[in-house]
This record gives sequence, C-alpha cells and structure tokens, in this order.
Amino acid sequence: MRLVMIGAPASGKGTQANRLTRHFDLDHISTGEMLRAEEAKRSELGLVVESYLKRGQLVPDSLVVKLVGERLAHNHLAQRFILDGFPRTLNQALALDRALGEMGQAIDAALLIEVPDSAVLERITGRRADPETGRIYHLKFSPPPPEILHRLEQRDDDTAEVMQARLSTYRERIAPVVAHYRDQGLLIAVDGTPPPEAVFQELLCRLASLNSTPQEE
Ligand code: AMP
Repeated sequence: MRLVMIGAPASGKGTQANRLTRHFDLDHISTGEMLRAEEAKRSELGLVVESYLKRGQLVPDSLVVKLVGERLAHNHLAQRFILDGFPRTLNQALALDRALGEMGQAIDAALLIEVPDSAVLERITGRRADPETGRIYHLKFSPPPPEILHRLEQRDDDTAEVMQARLSTYRERIAPVVAHYRDQGLLIAVDGTPPPEAVFQELLCRLASLNSTPQEE
C-alpha cells in the first residue's frame, strides 16, 4: 500500500498517518520530521532548512524531492509507505510519480484531511511537545499533566504569525496537487474536524471502498 497524506498544518495528518502506519504496517515518511531532524544537526543544509521553517515557508522542491527520493530508495522498492506532508506542490507530486514510475510503482490513494482555518488556528497555537518523551499535547484538547508543564516546548513555527504564513502557502500550493490526484481518481477527502478516532475510521472505510471499487468508475 502506497499512500500520500495531505492536510493543512495541524489538520491531524501526522496523527492519522501514525495510526495508518500501525494499522497497515507502513513506513511513515514525514517530510516535516525529516526537515526538523536536518535542522537539529546544525549542518550547512540544516541552517538553510531552518531559514525556511522559521518563516513558515516551504523548503525548495529540489531539496525535499531529493530527501524523499533517498528515503524511498531504502524502502524495499517503495512497497509500503505513507508520505506525510509530501507532496505539497504540483512539482513534488510529478517528481513523486516519476520516481515511483521508475520503480514500477504508483500511489494507491491520496488522503486529504480537510479542516477550516479557524480550527487550525486554535489547534496550532495550543500545541506543545515534551522534549523528554517526544509526546505532543494540546493545552485545551489533550492537556499535559501539570507536573511536566514547565518543560513543554512550542515548535518555532507553531506561533499565530508563522501559522498565517504557513496556511496561506498551504492553500495556494496544495490546490493543484489535490486536482492532480482527483483527476486520477485517487483522492480520498475526509472531514478532519471530528475526534481523531472518528476520522481514522472514516479513512479506513474509504480506503476499503476504494479497493472494492471497479477500476472503470
Ligand atoms: P509539517 O511538519 O508537515 O507541518 O512541516 C513543517 C514545515 O516543514 C513546513 O511548514 C515546511 O516549511 C516544511 N516542509 C514539510 N514538508 C515539506 C514539503 N513537502 N515541501 C516543502 N516544505 C516542506
């Protein structure tokens, strides 16, 4: 199973990708995480990446396409994976098609998690990570135990100002990507506002019906 997961910042795409990863035993490839890992290395590439992440801008296609290509090449001929946060531009989608095509593969479905901007804003500004366990909390929706509150961190790009930039970039760039997958009959769009478990069940249900849908439809 080869999936891509598309959604605005804080749409829940990471959470859903995690669940699908466990359910279908997939390789979870998150470009956001890969880029943050590069940034943390403080390498030359990491500093370049940081300058984009801080401003809420997309990292150049060539750089992300290279990172994803290298990762897919180590994925047993790209058989079982979910790409989380990639592709984010039409160029990336076309590069992915080409890379998979060279391996005789193609995407099975593109999952789109839809959440209105107002909900994204509320979710993102309350998000906090625990540096000791890596666990993500939300001050309102998934409150941390009071004793660890002092050590929680907010991602640099999770502030309201940077979020506005990330959201408008996302909306502008993702439209042709969504159209690309819709034209191929690969798009599965779900409402991301219900609780995570309900969104997950909806995704499973839609994936199951995709498999049983005759090709000509
Ligand atoms: P995410 O964790 O998916 O929200 O990504 C965090 C940030 O990493 C984004 O705001 C972008 O700056 C960068 N990023 C992640 N994936 C991509 C991508 N496919 N193309 C370009 N930039 C990306």
